[in-house]
This record gives sequence, C-alpha cells and structure tokens, in this order.
Amino acid sequence: MCGVFGVHLHPHAAQVAAIGLHALQHRGQESAGLAVSSGPVLRVHRAMGSVAEVLDEATLSGLPGRVAIGQVRYSTTGSSLLKNAQPLCVESPRGTLAMVHNGNLTNALPLRRELQDQGAVFTSSTDTEVALHLLARETEGTLAERTLRTVERLEGAFSLLVLQGDELVAARDPHGYRPLVLGKRSQPNGNVWMVASESAALSLCGAQLEREVEPGEVVALGVNGPVSLWMLRRPSRKACVFEHVYFARPDSRVFGQTVLEVRKRLGMQLAVEQPVPGAEVVVPVPDSGVSAALGYAEQAGLPYEFGLIHSQVVGRSFIQPTIALRESGVRRKLVPVADVIAGRSLVVVDDSLVRGTTSRQIIGLLRAAGAREVHLRIAAPPTAWPCYYGIDTPDRGQLIASRMNPSQMAEFFSCDSVAYLSEPGLLTAANGQPGGWCTACFSGDYPEPMRR
Ligand code: SF4
Repeated sequence: MCGVFGVHLHPHAAQVAAIGLHALQHRGQESAGLAVSSGPVLRVHRAMGSVAEVLDEATLSGLPGRVAIGQVRYSTTGSSLLKNAQPLCVESPRGTLAMVHNGNLTNALPLRRELQDQGAVFTSSTDTEVALHLLARETEGTLAERTLRTVERLEGAFSLLVLQGDELVAARDPHGYRPLVLGKRSQPNGNVWMVASESAALSLCGAQLEREVEPGEVVALGVNGPVSLWMLRRPSRKACVFEHVYFARPDSRVFGQTVLEVRKRLGMQLAVEQPVPGAEVVVPVPDSGVSAALGYAEQAGLPYEFGLIHSQVVGRSFIQPTIALRESGVRRKLVPVADVIAGRSLVVVDDSLVRGTTSRQIIGLLRAAGAREVHLRIAAPPTAWPCYYGIDTPDRGQLIASRMNPSQMAEFFSCDSVAYLSEPGLLTAANGQPGGWCTACFSGDYPEPMRR
C-alpha cells in the first residue's frame, strides 16, 4: 500500500506536498519522495525512511517549484530498496516525466516483457516503471491525452499521478480499487488544486475535499480547475473494502464515507453476530481496532476500556516488511494496563486478522497481565486470500485464515474463543453501492486475474 499526493500551482509546492505526505504516512513507511517542477526544471528527491527523515527542511528548500507530486511507500511489487522508491523519473522525447502510483498492476509482467523485447531498460523492479515507460513512448497530445492512452493499457489497481512541466495529471483505474480525491484551497490569487489518496491529507494542507477522482477518469489540474478525460472501459466500481477495515485513516472520507463511522458500524454488526456471554469489558487493539471496538461496546452495552496502550514509539506493525520486524514492533508499541485487565473476561476487538503474528503476541501480553478470559473478535471476515491489487499479502500460506479455523486459532493464540464478522455483515456495515466492493481477500472472488 502507498499514499500519493499532488499539489498544483502553489509557491511552496514541496512544503505543501511534504505536509500532505506526512498525513499519509500510515500508508507506507519504507520510503518517501517528491518530484517538484519549477516549469523548466524538474527535481526529484527520494530516499528510504519516513517523511520527516527524507523530506527535512533543508531538503525541501532545495526543491523550488509550484507543482509537486510525492509518495510514501511500502513494497508490494518490487522489494524494499531505494531503486524502487518513488517518484520515478524518466527523460522522454517530450521532456522530463515523473510518476507516483498506488496499487498493483495485474498485467505488469507481460507489459514489461513486451517493453524489454523492444529494447527498454528498467532501473527498478516496480510495476510503476512499466507505466512510466509506456507513457514516455507517447509523444502526441497533452500530458492528459498521453496519460489516457497509457492507462488504457493498464490492468489492475492504479491511482497514479504524473508530472511534467506545469502539468499535473491524476488517473484512477476503472474499478476504483484505491481511493483518490481532489481538493481545492481558495487563495486570493487563484485556487490551488490538490489530489491525495485520502481526504485527511487535503485537510492538513488547508484544502476542502471537492470530490473523488472517479473510476476510469483521467484528470488534468489546470488554472481553471480540473479537466477530465475518460477511459473507454466502462467504470465498474470495486472499491477495496479493506481500506475501510484497516488501511485508511479514521478521519478520512474514503469512497464517500467517513472511515470512523464505517468501522464503528463494523463493530456494532460484529457484536450482533458474535456476542460473548459473561464478558465484562471491551478492549480495543490500538490503533486499528479502536473504532470497531467502540461500536462493539455500544451495541453490546459493555464498558469500553483501554487495556492496551499504544506507546507511539513505532509505526503500524502490519506494514513493516519482515515478520521479525513486526514481532519486535508489537512488543515495543503495546503496553498492557493491569488494572483494566487483571481477573476480568475481555472481549478484545481487532480490525482484521492477517498473519496472526500480532494477535498472538497481544493475547500473550493480556494473559501475562492477568486476564481471566480473552475472547478475540475480528471486525472483518477471515482474510484467506492474497490481494493482487496493492496490499502486501502475496503468499496464501502466510494468511492464518487459510490454514486454521477459529477453534484452531483460539488454541494457537491461547485464548478462549476467536470469532469473525460475516461477509454479508461486512457489506451491510460498509454500505455503499451493491456489488461495488472488492472483497477478494475474504471471498477469493477476484474482479481481475493476475497475468503472468
Ligand atoms: S483483495 Fe482485499 S485488500 Fe485487495 S483490493 Fe480486494 S478487498 Fe482490498
């Protein structure tokens, strides 16, 4: 998963974009970068690390310009290396191009082979570079027109931004798997348009959320506002429901709904489907289980207490790239509160169960702090299938739900019970258009195949 941000015609574009990326830091912590254009000159800075580490004040002051795009990344296609950090940049016949991308292309491999057969040389192992090569070969028309012809060849998930000169173009795949929103900041000397993976990034930059970039839309940001072109493929919305379950910030509006409200409804539905007789308190797994636990407690009429405190030392454990890092991350970031836990029957609510690594450690912490009973409730169905569209669960063997049923998990975690939200319950709580969600990691029902 990644976060992308763009700003058009702001005198301090690099500084604004860095703030936007900071608001998207939860979407990727391996690398960060910016491409900033002053018109004739396009400068790129990217490095491994967080936004604060990579884009410090001195670096930003060396990136003058009025248009910028940037990305925070964790690796899906392409490993966690500097060569795969974004923005990617290339010299094309029409000038220097930069691109950032959130999502995974499902036809990147055949396209890469085709380009290599034609003599293309790749400098990264990312699918984004495939899209950039295709775009660099387009020589006719505006940047928006060239981007449109490029994205017509792409399959899978892409919310991407392209920068050349003063032109900034955003594009979103016809299924709209990954979120992408447009915002506007009114200034005395004209509007500044921004585009971001999540609305929270717009708010932090003083912009109002205007609308989503629609599935199948290619939009050029101009002085007179956004100008849209449309892909030939009919939009068929398959928004990633996992954005609401886990990824997006609770204060963002994603796919037209506030994430916090959706998560709370997931928790309420979970309480209806999976009650725990005799439970005394609902304990959220911070931070991702907090909103669902609130809904669970409200629906079940139980007290809601923080039995685990998030120490704020490290980032989100799910998106750290190795299991060893994830495990040490859990121990460092969660502290049990014995007064809440000791001698009580707990309903522990988490947003999802992917590998099970984190949950096993959390239950160990609660047991060690004296919990009498621990009942794990998951505000999503079992994650039993890998994601092809931009979330790092490529190997089915890594997914605990593909190997164990809830009773086996309870034994493995040393807890009293494990229970999930049903898929119909998820869709009821997520609301939205009927059939408009991708739920493939729960159902195995993939909207598009992965091409080899
Ligand atoms: S497979 Fe799951 S994580 Fe991937 S896009 Fe679909 S719902 Fe989202």
